[in-house]
Amino acid sequence: MARLLIDKDTCTGCESCIPACPFGALSMKEGVAVVDEKCTFCGACVDVCPVRAITLEKEEKAATIDLSAYKDVWIFIEHEFGKVSNVSFELLGEGRKLADAVGSKLCGMLLGDKESVDQFAKEAIAYGAEKVYVMESPLLKQYRTDSYARAAVDLIRKYKPEIVLFGATTQGRDFAGTVATTLETGLTADCTGLDIDPETKYLRQTRPAFGGNIMATILDYPNYRPQMATVRPKVFSMPPRDDSRKGEIIRETLQMTEDQVRTTILEFIKGAETVNLVDAEIIVSGGRGVGGPDGFKPIRELAGVLNAAVGASRAAVDSGWIPYEHQVGQTGRTVRPKIYIACGISGSIQHQAGMKTSDIIVAINKDPEAPIFKIATYGVVGDLFTVLPLLTQEFKKRLGR
Ligand SMILES: Cc1cc2nc3c(=O)[nH]c(=O)nc-3n(C[C@H](O)[C@H](O)[C@H](O)COP(=O)(O)OP(=O)(O)OC[C@H]3O[C@@H](n4cnc5c(N)ncnc54)[C@H](O)[C@@H]3O)c2cc1C
Repeated sequence: MARLLIDKDTCTGCESCIPACPFGALSMKEGVAVVDEKCTFCGACVDVCPVRAITLEKEEKAATIDLSAYKDVWIFIEHEFGKVSNVSFELLGEGRKLADAVGSKLCGMLLGDKESVDQFAKEAIAYGAEKVYVMESPLLKQYRTDSYARAAVDLIRKYKPEIVLFGATTQGRDFAGTVATTLETGLTADCTGLDIDPETKYLRQTRPAFGGNIMATILDYPNYRPQMATVRPKVFSMPPRDDSRKGEIIRETLQMTEDQVRTTILEFIKGAETVNLVDAEIIVSGGRGVGGPDGFKPIRELAGVLNAAVGASRAAVDSGWIPYEHQVGQTGRTVRPKIYIACGISGSIQHQAGMKTSDIIVAINKDPEAPIFKIATYGVVGDLFTVLPLLTQEFKKRLGR
């Protein structure tokens, strides 16, 4: 446990620390600052004290921790606007393999208010969770860093999971970092692969490193637990849903009050999302072969007829022909559509990293030796400006659009 120490002799009673404390844990007594039990040891007061009278004493990490106390694989069940994010189910699928490899249970960690948690817990079980640890509170109705992090930290400290996985979504990226920092453990962000080291049984976390030029496999230092990672949506496939599955729900209540949460949600303003590559069932993508911004016209026409999203290679994005939101690949989006149509894209390793798990890949390229043909389900050797209008015309006819 950390301790906040106030040196009474040094404190000048200037009161700078009082407004700096987000939790109202500081007050003045006989001209000297005093701290009460609301202190979360965030250190905000330490930074503002002009005479350095406040210090935060952190507990020294024990030389070794009892690894046997940590067991089970936990998946953070993320939800927003009344719906669980698919990435949580994808992680339950992958988590099953990890739990089997270490011989432990697969569990969900679910935070929310009373109205939502029951339904979400049932869904987590249907997708494979054997247990769901639920923290319930009106403070957890919507994602806010303070309340969610506190809830997760309390659950993790109490039940000691060996591995905790989060989706690398906006919420997951913010949340996992805060939880890892509070627990003083490691976090590997944006993983594209996970497995268990057969000898040590530690989690091997693979992610692009050095600007994506190498794939690094990271193992946490054994003295830090849990092992934590975020994983991009669509890296793993959805496991089958089975509503007849039974699981255990463990309920806890959050010991926190609204005044300890530093943010209030006033309103949600949805951004005008024009590109939804991640959820698209069909994607028509263009690469350097389209030759310029106007070269995306036949791509957009085919996408329009197929109700598809428009993707792009980095070469097309870097050339300024199409915005970055369309980029597919290692430094763009990872997609897993039913059909991916790659037009004028050579199929570099970095592009494949974002689309090779698509169910059906159609490649249109005038170079029969282009690497994209090695992973394509169907290949058309030809000029995209000839092939695409023919396809668009034919689909229009057949689909009546
Ligand atoms: C760290 C790093 C990260 C990267 N991240 C990504 C990423 O996220 N996504 C990504 O895509 N790339 C990424 N790249 C870049 C990647 O290495 C390739 O440079 C890029 O994918 C090439 O794009 P392309 O296939 O469109 O272009 P090219 O490789 O130049 O291929 C163009 C293709 O178009 C064909 N062609 C030309 N004209 C026509 C025509 N009229 N009809 C039909 N075919 C035609 C050609 O035969 C050729 O095969 C990354 C690179 C690095 C180093």
